[in-house]
Amino acid sequence: MPVVLAVHAHPDDIETLAAGTLALLSQRGLTVVIATLTSGECGSVTDDPAETARIRRAEAARAAALIGADYLCAGLPDLGVFNDDASRKAVTELIRRARPDIVIGAAPADYHPDHEAASQLTRDACFAASAPGYRTGPSAPLKAIPALYFMDPIGGRTREGAAVAADFGVDISEAMDVKRAMLEQHQSQITWLLKQHGITDFTAGMVAQSRRRGRDFGVAFAEGFRQYRHTPYPREERLQGLLGDRLLRP
Ligand SMILES: [Zn+2]
Repeated sequence: MPVVLAVHAHPDDIETLAAGTLALLSQRGLTVVIATLTSGECGSVTDDPAETARIRRAEAARAAALIGADYLCAGLPDLGVFNDDASRKAVTELIRRARPDIVIGAAPADYHPDHEAASQLTRDACFAASAPGYRTGPSAPLKAIPALYFMDPIGGRTREGAAVAADFGVDISEAMDVKRAMLEQHQSQITWLLKQHGITDFTAGMVAQSRRRGRDFGVAFAEGFRQYRHTPYPREERLQGLLGDRLLRP
């Protein structure tokens, strides 16, 4: 069965944007890997960064375990994700370790600088992962470039407020309970989100975004995705083909 790797910047991003789809894929017997480029160690007002990193990695691993997924972290610095050579090598090594057929990365335009850099790094690391001369660590090069997709941005909009259209949606109505449970593993974020973002109900944003995407497609809850189709990335609709009647066309 194909391996699906979801990559984003911080613990809780994937739970917000793609966990319903990942839960459905896991139910269908696919191997799902959830990866973050950072430990999110700046996401606390009380604990020091090392302790926050430890807590947040454990939360992310518990969330992944709810759908039988493995969790990997590239160990890049929170608020310090840049599309540079060392970071591209680290992300390429992570992709080689996970050995995906399908990669679902961060949206190219989003509110957070780490998210936008994570999107570029994931895109370029997918390209580099099958280049034998690009040396990154112990994992062997991939045999081929994986099919690449982007999640929606947080809130479904760019920094300028423009709504981001999806190539297709996934009906996650039946997976909303597990999606919410995955996000709720990130208990350390309750205090942080209140202080930094003024958010009092930390699952409300995820639920509202899933509902808005659902409305776009005429279902209760959905997640939106775009496929990156530039040469030489695969153009076949590999992820769409795995979704059965949960696939939503615009
Ligand atoms: Zn994030």
